[in-house]
Amino acid sequence: GGFLDRLQVGKGSLLAPQRQLRAVNGVSLTIAPGEVFALVGESGCGKSTVAKTIARIYEPTSGEIRIDGEDVSRLPFRAMLPVRRKLQMIFQDPYASLDPRQRVRDIVMEPRLAQGGRLSRRELQDEAVALLAKVGLNAEQANRYPHQFSGGQRQRIGIARALSVRPTLIIADEPVSALDVSIQAQILNLMKDLRDEFRLSYLFVSHDLSVAHHIADRIGVMYLGFMVETASRDQLFREPKHPYTRVLLSAAPTLDKSNPGTKIEIRGEVPSALRLPSGCCFRTRCPLAFDRCAVERPALKPQADGSAVACHLHDRTDTERMIP
Ligand code: SF4
Ligand code: MG
Repeated sequence: GGFLDRLQVGKGSLLAPQRQLRAVNGVSLTIAPGEVFALVGESGCGKSTVAKTIARIYEPTSGEIRIDGEDVSRLPFRAMLPVRRKLQMIFQDPYASLDPRQRVRDIVMEPRLAQGGRLSRRELQDEAVALLAKVGLNAEQANRYPHQFSGGQRQRIGIARALSVRPTLIIADEPVSALDVSIQAQILNLMKDLRDEFRLSYLFVSHDLSVAHHIADRIGVMYLGFMVETASRDQLFREPKHPYTRVLLSAAPTLDKSNPGTKIEIRGEVPSALRLPSGCCFRTRCPLAFDRCAVERPALKPQADGSAVACHLHDRTDTERMIP
């Protein structure tokens, strides 16, 4: 099988068919093999929508999703089967995502069987045990049921299940948010080890910047359905450029104290995604907004250091303002 070459969701909008409409606009991202890309932002910013659209849990209304160069955004369900092998999901709630009536060994092998794998009972058992060993669980535990495990252990089971089909990309939607802080680092470290061992890429969705800092190579910051900044992790934390990113960083309580991150006060409520402000999506809360922000929507522009920012203050053709 091939590897994940490039993955892009972009050009146009992805609209989730939910009661609560979550529009995502022109979000474009590429994940390299072996890379951890974290999508961050407040709840409702559209980061889960992007993840679930890439996983084809939601249908995109427009745009494209390329895996190994192939646009999979319009593939009919049956043609998605080989794509599903490359692309597995880990969910936020390890309680809800594991069938309570199944033994762990069967849960773990379920994606493999869904791929039409023909395996004897013995082979299934052996493979399940081998997968569980990769996530730190033993052979005896393979015969138990989900309720017999802690939250952290259940997330380990969810990870083993995802690994059963040897995916190239794992989409993890808030995978440690439901866990105690003391357990979070263990699971993140496990995911990093598995990334190296299986040469996995992750699309990692988190509202928690300290979690993103722990695991991500690159980070995309979303606000109201727009990507407002993408940067390497170190670049983003050292020199956040978008005013919203700076707000997020100054609000994050668990960050390294050595990060100077200029304090910026945020004001007002997040506007409804159904009534987007004209111009910049962040302008109703941005302390640095100026005239142009109300009339022109800033595009995500590549910067000299490899990051990209959607803000008129970082538009290099703009000479009317200097970055404060
Ligand atoms: Fe603030 Fe204007 Fe930049 Fe938007 S474009 S983030 S309103 S300064
Ligand atoms: Mg979410």
